[in-house]
Amino acid sequence: MIPDDVIEQVRDAADIVGIIGETVELKRSGSDYRGRCPFHGGTHRNFAVIPKKGMFYCFVCHEAGDVYTFFMKRLGMDYPTAVREVARRVGITIPERSGPTGPDPREPLFNAVATAADWYARQLRESPEAESARTYLESRHVTMEQAQVGGLGFGPRGSGFLDAMKGLGLREEVLLEAGLIVKREDGSKVPRFRGRLLFPIHDLRSRVVAFSGRILGEGEPKYLNSPETPIFHKGQLLYNLHLAKHGMRKAERAILVEGQFDVLRLTLAGVEEVVAPLGTGLTDDQAALLQRHTPHVILLYDSDDPGLRATFRAGDVLLRHKLRVSVATLPEGEDPDTLVQNKGAAALEQAIKDSVDVLERKIQILNRKGFFGTLPGRRRALDRLLPTIRATTDPVTRDFYITQVCEAAKIGRPALLRELESSPGAATDDLSPELSTVVQLPQNIEKWWLLLLLEGDPWRGKVLERIKAADLQFPPYRAVFTGVVANSLDELEPVPARTYEALRATGLGPFLADEVFEYVAGNLDGEPLKAELREIDRKIPLATGQEQEQLVERKREIWNELRVKQPRYKITGGRKGAPGS
Ligand SMILES: [Zn+2]
Repeated sequence: MIPDDVIEQVRDAADIVGIIGETVELKRSGSDYRGRCPFHGGTHRNFAVIPKKGMFYCFVCHEAGDVYTFFMKRLGMDYPTAVREVARRVGITIPERSGPTGPDPREPLFNAVATAADWYARQLRESPEAESARTYLESRHVTMEQAQVGGLGFGPRGSGFLDAMKGLGLREEVLLEAGLIVKREDGSKVPRFRGRLLFPIHDLRSRVVAFSGRILGEGEPKYLNSPETPIFHKGQLLYNLHLAKHGMRKAERAILVEGQFDVLRLTLAGVEEVVAPLGTGLTDDQAALLQRHTPHVILLYDSDDPGLRATFRAGDVLLRHKLRVSVATLPEGEDPDTLVQNKGAAALEQAIKDSVDVLERKIQILNRKGFFGTLPGRRRALDRLLPTIRATTDPVTRDFYITQVCEAAKIGRPALLRELESSPGAATDDLSPELSTVVQLPQNIEKWWLLLLLEGDPWRGKVLERIKAADLQFPPYRAVFTGVVANSLDELEPVPARTYEALRATGLGPFLADEVFEYVAGNLDGEPLKAELREIDRKIPLATGQEQEQLVERKREIWNELRVKQPRYKITGGRKGAPGS
């Protein structure tokens, strides 16, 4: 027998428009949807689906009901089968039938995990061994009070846990099944979480079902989760959802962060609607779970390359579930945790407020990295944008995305639609230029000339006064120089195009343009002297004694002259280094 509250929960969670829409073509009409009635086979749109009430109704034959009755009437399912079918789609696990009134067979597991959670929390408060955990929390500016509200715990090394659990009457088989202890090869049993700070993981009914343990000090893995158990399926739960769901309904958005500490930090900063996946990439089930509680998800991950990859991967999963997806960007080098610590909750709220649509963010990044500057670059930008459009199932959003990508990549709509229909190649979510696989860029003075050229005026003008394309030895650099000067970047071959992107991605870094100009111009002024030096070095071994002396004397003069011209730079190492290095 399926408990009433589960039936209720599944019904609330179900996307009735999506489910009926699989077999009946529905069109929006105000806040409802209309289609041809599948029951009496009408030809007019007299069949209404009313998502607000979770029901359907036919104005002609008066068939009516909820999502369960739809399956029963359309497909002849019995009631429990219909409930299970809907539950499967919304990612809720219904325990297998256990007789008409039998207790939930998983009750001992819930009990064991709850008992363990209490015991772990007490260890964190009281145990001398937990000093490292308390110190660690302090270092992350989490007070013991906050840790206790969050239900945090500590799993000590040694056999204390096992002894305590047995003392409380818990059997080893249950502890094993709940994933709290592990069996070693020699048959002995040890606690799973040893020397770890523990975050309890709750299900939607706020029962603790598992733990995530962070190592204290050295060791692998950094985070260890409970294994899959009859009460814990990590792909189908989100960390903190049991609390965040209320905030999500109020705020009409969810904020998705990478880890437990980010969740803790945000909730302490007063943001309620925050959740995290459980140590893996976001799963389809988790996205479906979010979709039941909110129409909009803001991704708040690290802004480094791995963080961006995770961001866009999660974005595609969410788009598949018709969610609106935005990306909040944190200041360079900050994660949500450090940002709140360093700049306060207001800085975080600002970052969330400034979040932009996920596709727009992708385009921004590709643009910043120069992908749209060349024809081959636009081709590869397209390869990175197509998966996002393909993932987008909401027709309105999809149409909007198509328009945006057409504009950004300068491609016509029919061509883009053809691209979308063609079979997707190996999807790439890497937004870096992937240059290293193609060509190694020389870190020389030529590169600095180009970087200056790309800065635009007045530097472009100054560069053009001093050098021309033919002065550059490295062919891709020469091609980029020509392309920029002649405004013909579209015609660049693939390698120069990638070179261009890499240069755009690099930029001047921490250096000021005038600093770089001083460096490259000084180097150029010294060029004839350096050529003479090389010539002298070639002559010396062949010269007679007196000639040799003259050559060495001339060499000394050149060195002195070069030192005057480039007082700040080592001449010999100058080709490898960067300005000021
Ligand atoms: Zn009808």
